[in-house]
Amino acid sequence: MWQARVITLYPEMFPGPLGHSLAGRALRDGLWGLDTIQLRDFAEGRHRNVDDTPSGGGPGMVLRVDVLARAVDAARAKAPDSPVLALTPRGPRLKQDRVRALASGPGVTLLCGRFEGFDERIFAGRQVEPVSIGDFILSGGELAAMVLLDACVRLCPGVMGAASSGDEESFESGLLEYPHYTRPAVWEGHAIPDVLTSGDHGKIATWRRRRAEEDTRLWRPDLLGDKPL
Ligand code: SAH
Repeated sequence: MWQARVITLYPEMFPGPLGHSLAGRALRDGLWGLDTIQLRDFAEGRHRNVDDTPSGGGPGMVLRVDVLARAVDAARAKAPDSPVLALTPRGPRLKQDRVRALASGPGVTLLCGRFEGFDERIFAGRQVEPVSIGDFILSGGELAAMVLLDACVRLCPGVMGAASSGDEESFESGLLEYPHYTRPAVWEGHAIPDVLTSGDHGKIATWRRRRAEEDTRLWRPDLLGDKPL
């Protein structure tokens, strides 16, 4: 079973959205597992502080490396073969090929940041890999962790069923997916493209391929290598 562990100051946020629909059904069916680990349990002292002021000054608070390391060690003891990833906008952006690689492994341990983020020494000191879900700033790593987990879980064996293995989705071929339509045939004057109702599967495949390329060029030229983002 694919096993996720999430180190967080807000374990009560989980499973949250992951308890519903496809991922939730799979969770209840035992196709994947989710453990939350309260970061504060690894803090010491009367106040159980997990954070401290940034060295060099500046606003906000930084998660302490000693507290993070104890939590990571506890998670690794349970799952020595699972990669440990920290959610941070300072990491490489998550892509579908990384999602596939993670989903085909034993699981993942995720470290959720809060405040200004992590003491940088955790990355080298505990072989933690940084990963970002996009070029914007969230208030905490929990939603980012859920995004990563949702992307992985739908690829776990048995979750989506053989019929839709996800092979045709956007990014799987290096392109955005072609657009979809369904009934009604005409909606507020807008008709479904004729080719899709023609029953000619060769023509449909050609049209879809062309639209995938056109839309990728329009919305995501970076995927074609035209313009690095
Ligand atoms: N000071 C940091 C941002 C901290 S945001 C910086 O400028 O790089 C607080 C936490 O939210 C982060 O530690 C991280 O865990 C999470 N977070 C915010 N944006 C994220 C993103 N794009 N991807 C992944 N995690 C993110």
